[in-house]
Amino acid sequence: MALGELIWTGRAWPAAEIVGRTGDDFTFKTSGKGRPVDLVGPAAWWRNFSELNLDDPDAVIGFVRRHGDPFGQLSPTTQGDTAGWAYVLALLKLAASCWTRNRDGTGTALETALAKVAQGRAVPSLCTVWDNGYVIDALLASPLFVASVAFVPHVGEVGEGVTARRGVTMRIIPENLAAYMMTSAILHLENHVSMAPCEQCGDWFVERRRGTQFCSASCRAAHSTSKKEKK
Ligand SMILES: [Zn+2]
Repeated sequence: MALGELIWTGRAWPAAEIVGRTGDDFTFKTSGKGRPVDLVGPAAWWRNFSELNLDDPDAVIGFVRRHGDPFGQLSPTTQGDTAGWAYVLALLKLAASCWTRNRDGTGTALETALAKVAQGRAVPSLCTVWDNGYVIDALLASPLFVASVAFVPHVGEVGEGVTARRGVTMRIIPENLAAYMMTSAILHLENHVSMAPCEQCGDWFVERRRGTQFCSASCRAAHSTSKKEKK
């Protein structure tokens, strides 16, 4: 039986605002309906979450506005808070440690050497920890993954080329954004994908073609428009 698509259906909250702080945790609210987010497959911006400074209200609310509330509490009638964020962040940081090159270009000695060889050209962040099963194990064993990710069998496309047929496959359905990010990290660890941070929006993305600077066609377009406006 094949493991099938990861499916995320959620909401980002562009109108979210911080309302206060209790101990270490920020509380936030929102108005409006939010922006629907429907994704098939993993997204590499789990690494953006792994980099968040949870003491910085702008970083916290920026993530909620752009990608959503990790535990899905937030709605126009219910406030959300950052309780539990540090736990998710720690696990995602562990996952991110399998990749070379941080956002600022620092990383392992090997990576620093590679960057010198590339002479300013962007060097992707590589998943060089080949035997990373122990990290995947830690993520799979976390209560969040166990409690919040459902595997739903369905009949879909399995096999490739001449073996392609309809057969039983599993859809992976996370219950909240935190579980979606964890599952994304697991799939990226498993596939050892290369990543880069988008030069327009700052989101990490999977580098499918060497030297790509943008996460999407819209970020590429926005970047060239802003460059023209500067001129
Ligand atoms: Zn982008």
